[in-house]
Amino acid sequence: MDCIFCKIVRGEIPTKLVGETEHSIAFKDIAPRQPVHILIVPKNHSRDITELAAKDPDALVDLVRLGTKLAAEYSTGSFRLSFNTGAEAGQSVFHAHGHITSTTPKPVQ
Ligand code: AMP
Ligand code: ZN
Repeated sequence: MDCIFCKIVRGEIPTKLVGETEHSIAFKDIAPRQPVHILIVPKNHSRDITELAAKDPDALVDLVRLGTKLAAEYSTGSFRLSFNTGAEAGQSVFHAHGHITSTTPKPVQ
């Protein structure tokens, strides 16, 4: 499928990968809007979080678990997990994904 996140899942476009599970991959956003900005992407294509929730609830739970694990690793514990849904809400990539953003990155040990 000609979808940028499907290409990333297939390894056809390089990213800064920070996590992977059976259902999801996680990588740094190419244009970070906060000091921590990680995208959590289900490996199978759904157009948005509404379709993912209906079609593949196991993948949705996996996305939230991976996202919250990485939020704990990369931030001091205050973070947002957000899903832009629909062009008018700011969705620009129509492959479901969660944004983990935080203004308080964990200091490098
Ligand atoms: P949204 O606007 O919610 O659809 O989010 C799409 C996000 O994907 C944006 O924050 C982009 O910066 C990010 N993005 C687009 N292309 C890439 C890429 N090749 N690698 C990493 N992040 C990307
Ligand atoms: Zn896709």
